[in-house]
Amino acid sequence: MRWKIAIVNSATFGAYTGVVERLRKVGEVVRINVPREVSGEELASHLLGFQFVVASTNPRYDEKFFKANTDVVLLARNGIGLDNIDVKAATESGVVVTRVPGEVEREAVAELAVALMLDAARSVSAAYIAVREGRWHERSRFIGLELMGRTVGIIGLGNIGRRVAEILSKGFGVNVLAYDPYISRDAATNIGVKLTDLETLLRESDIVTLHAPLTEETHHIINMETIALMKDGSILVNTARGGLVDTGALVKALKSGKLRYAALDVVEGDHVSLGNPLLQLENVVITPHIGAYTYESFGGIDECVAEAIEAVVKGERPKHVVNPEVYEGRVRRLA
Ligand code: NAD
Repeated sequence: MRWKIAIVNSATFGAYTGVVERLRKVGEVVRINVPREVSGEELASHLLGFQFVVASTNPRYDEKFFKANTDVVLLARNGIGLDNIDVKAATESGVVVTRVPGEVEREAVAELAVALMLDAARSVSAAYIAVREGRWHERSRFIGLELMGRTVGIIGLGNIGRRVAEILSKGFGVNVLAYDPYISRDAATNIGVKLTDLETLLRESDIVTLHAPLTEETHHIINMETIALMKDGSILVNTARGGLVDTGALVKALKSGKLRYAALDVVEGDHVSLGNPLLQLENVVITPHIGAYTYESFGGIDECVAEAIEAVVKGERPKHVVNPEVYEGRVRRLA
C-alpha cells in the first residue's frame, strides 16, 4: 500500500533538502494550499484520503476537523508552536500529533530575536528606509542605545528564551530578568538570569522580549495595562506569537512614544496586509514570521517530520509525540 502525504500551506518544507524524495518512498506527496481561515469541515474534505499531514502554522486543525476527517493518522507539525492544533481533539480522535523538538529551531529564533533587538536599538531598518528614500541628511534622527549594561526582560524562559539570555549576557553584558511561572528560581539563577514577577520585569527592563507560547494565559499579556508598567522609551521584541500582544494598545504606545520601538517577527492573525496601522509607523520593524527560517533549522525540521512519518509506517511510535496519551486509547492505525 502506498500512503498519501499532504504538505499543507508550507512552501518551505522540503524546499532545501531531499526530504520530499525520501517521503516518496513511503507514498504520494502532494502540496496543498488552503485559505488560512478555512473551516475545520472544509479542511477535512481537502484532506480526505491522506494518512499523513505536514502541518504549518496555519490553517487551524480544530475539533470539527478531527471529527470530520477519519483518514489522517499523523499530524506532523513542521515547527514548534501548537496553537493552531486542538491537540485534545486530536487525541480524542486517535490522531497522533508530533512537533519538532525545541533545539531544532532554538538558535534560529534566538538569533533573530537578538537581530531584531539590535535593529530596534539602533533603528537600523528605519535608517535604511531613510537612505533608500534619499533622506541621508536625516541621520541625526537615528540616535540609538547600546545593549551593554542594559536590562532585558524575557517573558518565557524556555528553549529559546534561555538561548537569548545566554547570547545577551555573555555577548553583550546585558542584565537579564525573566518572568516564567513554570520554572524554578534555581533553573534561572544557574544560567545567570534573575527570575522575577511580571510587574517587576516590565518596570525594570529597557527591552522586553517575548518567548512564551500562546495560551489563554498569555493571550494579550502585553496590553494597555502592562504597557503602562513598561519603562518610557522601552523596546518590545516579539518572536513568539502575535496573539501575545494587543496590537491596538501597541500602536497607541508606539505613536505616543511610550514605547520607543517594536520589533516583531509575529503579529496578530499571523499576517500583515498593507492597511495594517503598524505599517504607518516608522518605529516598527516587522519580519514575516521567519524566526525558524535558516538552512540549519530547515534541515532539522525536515528530518524530524520524515522520521515521524517513517516511524508510523513501521508501526512504531515517533520520537516527538505531543499527545502520548493517544496510545492509551484507540489510536488510529494505518488500515
Ligand atoms: P518552550 O516551551 O521551550 O518555552 C516556553 C516557555 O514559556 C516555558 O519555559 C514556559 O514555562 C513559559 N511560559 C508558559 N506560560 C507562560 C506564561 N504565562 N508566562 C510566562 N512564561 C510562560 O518554547 P520555545 O521553543 O522556547 O518557544 C517559545 C515561543 O517561540 C513559542 O511561542 C513558539 O511558538 C515561538 N516560536 C516562534 C518561532 C518563529 O518562527 N518566530 C519559531 C519557533 C517557536
